[in-house]
Amino acid sequence: MKEDTLRFEREFLSPYATKSEDTRGRETPIKPCPLRTEFQRDRDRILHCKAFRRLKHKTQVFLAPTGDHYRTRLTHTLEVTQIARTIARALRLNEDLTEAIALGHDLGHTPFGHAGERVLRAKTSHFEHNEQSLRVVDFLEQDGNGLNLTFEVRDGILNHRSDGNPTTLEGKVVCFADRIAYLNHDVDDAIRAGIFDESDIPEDIERVLGRGIGVKIDVFVNDIVKNSYGKPYVMQSEECATAMKKLREFMFEKVYLTDRARAEEVKADRMLTLLFDYYMEHPEEVPDSYKVNTDNPKIFITDYIAGMSDNYAVKMFEKHFIPANWED
Ligand code: MG
Repeated sequence: MKEDTLRFEREFLSPYATKSEDTRGRETPIKPCPLRTEFQRDRDRILHCKAFRRLKHKTQVFLAPTGDHYRTRLTHTLEVTQIARTIARALRLNEDLTEAIALGHDLGHTPFGHAGERVLRAKTSHFEHNEQSLRVVDFLEQDGNGLNLTFEVRDGILNHRSDGNPTTLEGKVVCFADRIAYLNHDVDDAIRAGIFDESDIPEDIERVLGRGIGVKIDVFVNDIVKNSYGKPYVMQSEECATAMKKLREFMFEKVYLTDRARAEEVKADRMLTLLFDYYMEHPEEVPDSYKVNTDNPKIFITDYIAGMSDNYAVKMFEKHFIPANWED
């Protein structure tokens, strides 16, 4: 069965696609699977890891949302994956590799969105969520042994940010899909939260991208496919890139940098800062699985806090800082 898939990749995929037969492989070689290609195995390894399940309770943009319809880091990841797969399939790139990178790209994201990232950066002078995602798959998962993924999936995860330069076109597709997904679902969530109305989106943006979330995603996806089909690169038109930039600026002004968002972020900052300082004083309270690859408290505390879901961080804060009630 795997032979059929490998033949499909050889005969049908674009000459610029990454064939699973050509993978640069894993740090520790493993026995081949009779059914799945190496990239399909990586997808499964990511999907079944604990860090993936924790994405369920990590903030996307709206801090600790109680409404069921707001995005979380998990639903964001699924939306990125689906958009990326659509583009990859249309471009005849390797859909399995694309899927694996997309599912893993945000595994290192901190609790409370960028507030968590800011605190860890302040405490350690260097923290980037894409590098942390790679640490998760290389070292932290499987109780400190890592997932032993292929080079191409690791490379795509590390270089998924818009300024990143992944080795494969599949990695590049995920860069675009990440932006398309978050911009559109953040618009949708902001409208849901009553922060602005769809009619507030500037006319010059809507003229290019159209009205409604589904329409905008479709415009972005079609534009990339049109400009990249059969080419050794993945790119969007100047017009769409400009509209995307303007939509991003609009979101910064209306949502990301507003007082309302900031007020909650300040609280998250304070809470995570106190937690970090607490563990620096009590490193023995960090689970041993975080100490397998390092005995430097700053590093294992960063790994521990970066891995927390929003809920778990609040729970640990309550445990360490709020006096408990005496039960009857
Ligand atoms: Mg993302």
